[in-house]
Amino acid sequence: MKAKSETHWVIEIDPKSYESLAKISYVFINFKKCPLEPFVSVNHCKKCGKYGHTAKRCTESTPKCLKCGLSSHDNDQPCSFNCLNCSTNNSKLKRNEPTNHKSGYYRCPEFHKQRRQAFLRSGHDPGVWERVILS
Ligand SMILES: [Zn+2]
Ligand SMILES: [Zn+2]
Ligand SMILES: [Zn+2]
Repeated sequence: MKAKSETHWVIEIDPKSYESLAKISYVFINFKKCPLEPFVSVNHCKKCGKYGHTAKRCTESTPKCLKCGLSSHDNDQPCSFNCLNCSTNNSKLKRNEPTNHKSGYYRCPEFHKQRRQAFLRSGHDPGVWERVILS
């Protein structure tokens, strides 16, 4: 495990400058190239790994490992990526989404769906940022 020393800056902007800012995908902060990522709050539960609520409101009794989706185990126990949201969707909706990522990963198809809905709720155009992120 590598130590993470990332700083996340949150910049609040109005929808108009947001549109023009979306045309560039990087900003320079302290001479450091920082990727721009939109911030819309997607509720993601760190306890059970599902979307739509936070750990505070979680009704699950057993916490799940966000990486493999199984009931929580020791951190040093190796496990492989298996997104619990995507594997549930795959079996429920007969889909074939990739599941080799952890729950809450920013490229998780289900996370995208949730974020898209959050964008629409906030009145922003989700397409602008999706082009930036997926390019
Ligand atoms: Zn939960
Ligand atoms: Zn695990
Ligand atoms: Zn997923």
